[in-house]
Amino acid sequence: MKFLAEYRDPELARALVEQLRRATTRPWTIMEICGGQTHSILRHGIDQVLPPGLELVHGPGCPVCVTPLETIDRAVAIAELPGTILTSFGDMLRVPGSRGSLLEARSRGADVRMVYSPLEALALARANPDREVVFLAVGFETTAPGNAMAAAAAADQGLLNYSQLVSHVLVPPAMAAILDAPGCRVNAFLAAGHVCTVTGWRPYEAVAARHGVPIVATGFEPVDILDGLVQAVTLLEQGEARVVNRYERAVRPDGNPAAQAMVDRMYRVCDRKWRGIGVITQSGLELRPEFAAWDAERKFDVAGIAPAESAECIAGLVLQGRARPADCPAFGRACTPQTPLGATMVSSEGACAAWFRYGRKVTE
Ligand code: SF4
Repeated sequence: MKFLAEYRDPELARALVEQLRRATTRPWTIMEICGGQTHSILRHGIDQVLPPGLELVHGPGCPVCVTPLETIDRAVAIAELPGTILTSFGDMLRVPGSRGSLLEARSRGADVRMVYSPLEALALARANPDREVVFLAVGFETTAPGNAMAAAAAADQGLLNYSQLVSHVLVPPAMAAILDAPGCRVNAFLAAGHVCTVTGWRPYEAVAARHGVPIVATGFEPVDILDGLVQAVTLLEQGEARVVNRYERAVRPDGNPAAQAMVDRMYRVCDRKWRGIGVITQSGLELRPEFAAWDAERKFDVAGIAPAESAECIAGLVLQGRARPADCPAFGRACTPQTPLGATMVSSEGACAAWFRYGRKVTE
């Protein structure tokens, strides 16, 4: 399978659905980690054609959804300091914080700008030497290399009016935390193929072995996902807890060493809070101490923030596969993409947004 059309071939998809039906003899719960896969599953109606007993639950693989409220609040506070330009990707600007989103800070007069890459923020810093340009750097192993590259360029060029507010997160520790949580029902994972292109699939071996779960590295097209499900169910039915790579066209066992080296140069692993979930040990990346001059958290004194989460939002449970978006009383009522109460409704990769967009609406 080398060409895009093959991954959307209806005949092939139908054959895989049939294969999945034949392979499934018992109830299983499989979590797709990535929000991109969640959207693909709902968009193509894969959740509607699963065999009886096979349940898909959504995982925490949406960078916008898991960025802690404190980080949004800190970004808003930095944006409101005189002389600062706060930059980030589009969705991040709409995420609600305790005092509103970054876009709301902009409506109050803060200089908040959407960028398409961290290098764009770097260019802004060069063009505005009398201003402090801060890039809100979030995301998983996929975005970390590009953000690390921008931080490295700023350090190499001695560009001291550029800094990063870093809130990167890592997938394997989150999987382990989900499996360790009391009442976890997840029997197997579809791992996000694009994350594996950077890390390879070897980092998942320890999770699979320790927790006794199969993990299948999977792509994002309907045929990719159905193929990943067939593989995951086959492993479950055979009682095999190992990692299988079904995204062979992009993923190597050890990933991308150059990207890993760049991340390693600039960032180090740290404990990280995940929005709605809490602190997961060794699940994040932060700038190394030797790059403190480019670390917005150290550079700007915005401590003393008391975050206040919406009391109605159950996004933390949704992100751990313990509730469906429609289980939330606010879903489709007080909370819609136009009036989001939580990050999972804001983000283009969020599970609540996917349910809303593809018509898995709450019944009155
Ligand atoms: S529907 Fe809205 S309020 Fe409910 S969990 Fe999702 S984001 Fe939170």
